[in-house]
Amino acid sequence: MQEEKLLFYKKLGIKLTPQRLAILEYLENNREHPSAEDIYNALKDKFPSMSFSTVYNTLEVLTKKGLVKELGIDSYKRRYDPEVHPHHHFLCKKCGKILDIKSKYEISIPLELKDYQIVDFQIVFYGLCPKCK
Ligand code: ZN
Ligand code: MN
Repeated sequence: MQEEKLLFYKKLGIKLTPQRLAILEYLENNREHPSAEDIYNALKDKFPSMSFSTVYNTLEVLTKKGLVKELGIDSYKRRYDPEVHPHHHFLCKKCGKILDIKSKYEISIPLELKDYQIVDFQIVFYGLCPKCK
């Protein structure tokens, strides 16, 4: 990982252990929206001493610092997205694949929310991916 990046994490007060670095590297540019289990399974051979809770705690820290977004759209397991800028998703109901949707949508704010401050919204398309349909 580049020096710049390491400094960035240090400034945020994120303690950098080799395991945490591996988790950060795994997430970087990862478009698969992995679950904590996915990350654990991908790294456990390289880091046999790493526990599932290490992965989980790291994800919590990263979420709190705004470096990762928690996605609640898959009802089976929480998924994580290192792309924190607003975008939309497609979820395959069969294989669980989550695809980024970068198109812009103009929506009208519903009347029920006229007194609320909206900071974000997300459109989720549910269906079957080309492989599953
Ligand atoms: Zn699918
Ligand atoms: Mn995404």
